[in-house]
Amino acid sequence: LASTQNQAHRVLTRARLATLAGGAPYGLIEEGALAIEGERIAWIGEEKALPERYLDWPSESLEGRLVTPALVDCHSHIVYGGSRDKEFELRLEGASYEEIARAGGGIRSTVAATRAASEDALLAAALPRVDALLAEGLGTLEIKSGYGLDLESEAKMLRVARRIGEVRSLRVVTTFLGAHALPPEYEGRADAYIDFMAEEVLPALAAEGLVDAVDAFCEKIAFSAGQVARVFEVAKALNLPVKLHAEQLSDQGGAAMAASFGALSSDHLEYLSEAGVAAMAKAGSVAVLLPGAFYFLRETKLPPLAALRAAGVPLALASDCNPGSSPLTSLLLTMNMGATLFRMTPEECLAAVTREGARALGLERDIGTLEVGKRADLAVWDLAEPAELTYRMGFNPLARRIFGGKG
Ligand SMILES: [Zn+2]
Repeated sequence: LASTQNQAHRVLTRARLATLAGGAPYGLIEEGALAIEGERIAWIGEEKALPERYLDWPSESLEGRLVTPALVDCHSHIVYGGSRDKEFELRLEGASYEEIARAGGGIRSTVAATRAASEDALLAAALPRVDALLAEGLGTLEIKSGYGLDLESEAKMLRVARRIGEVRSLRVVTTFLGAHALPPEYEGRADAYIDFMAEEVLPALAAEGLVDAVDAFCEKIAFSAGQVARVFEVAKALNLPVKLHAEQLSDQGGAAMAASFGALSSDHLEYLSEAGVAAMAKAGSVAVLLPGAFYFLRETKLPPLAALRAAGVPLALASDCNPGSSPLTSLLLTMNMGATLFRMTPEECLAAVTREGARALGLERDIGTLEVGKRADLAVWDLAEPAELTYRMGFNPLARRIFGGKG
């Protein structure tokens, strides 16, 4: 498998190609071939139809292995300081929420640890988590801020996110999540905090080129739809796309509000209403489902899958990797949870971490399917059947990751 890895032009032959580009289930091409030119897919199809111009390119047989688009994790909080394992342990030993708070638990403990950590320390802590995702064929990772909650600490988190994309061969998409939680210094002054984030922090970070999109947490325990809208107005003026943590614990009308701003996605959605589904469908927002958090919090209220499907809302899955509610660094396990917990089909699960994950990041023209002109971001698996990616638990069949034509 190593012979042509660093060729700028090459053809991969004897591949089973799950293109996710329509047609057959999984967009499957049996006995397929794929030509890579530089960073892009130059040709893809049945090997017997390979045009003559590719016949003298270096070629390599994949011996019947399955090829999918490289995976996309479109929702993560993978950069953070500290750990919440102690709090997890205390809770399982029967401690009350009050006792955990007194012991320094909860999101504010992550904020304190993130503020106290250096950029290098945050990077060093995040890389093993990123590497776990890469080992399963990840090509693109979204990383949110939201544990700094002041100008300097939010900037620090986003700089670390950018550095992850420099020290590893993957694409990082950054999201500003200043409206994640209320920091202690703003206790009882949520509106003042929102003004600070919207009018000072977001414009400053955008001017530094650190922000690809803007997110918020719309919930009783976080911010109201009206407060979030004030942040989104500024995002809109800065020409930045928005997305939202919506309807996770209660119905706040967040997804519909986000849809009115043309949101790329609304995420979580366990308590999404019919009106919310309709608003998302109309706006073309992706539903990003996060079964890791659902599992870890032992939730029981399911997101409205049937209504989302019926309305044609695209379904993505993501790790939601974060220390409090989803310490998850496996998209393969996320896919399995999408099937077991949410009853998504294996085909939906694979599309959810490729094509629809890309759509949730506004990158659907560039990645997420195997098509001519798209980036050659590929995962090669020691499998033939795509359903097996979703079926198994705790098993990693990745043979090789190709990123931008390399690998
Ligand atoms: Zn999240």
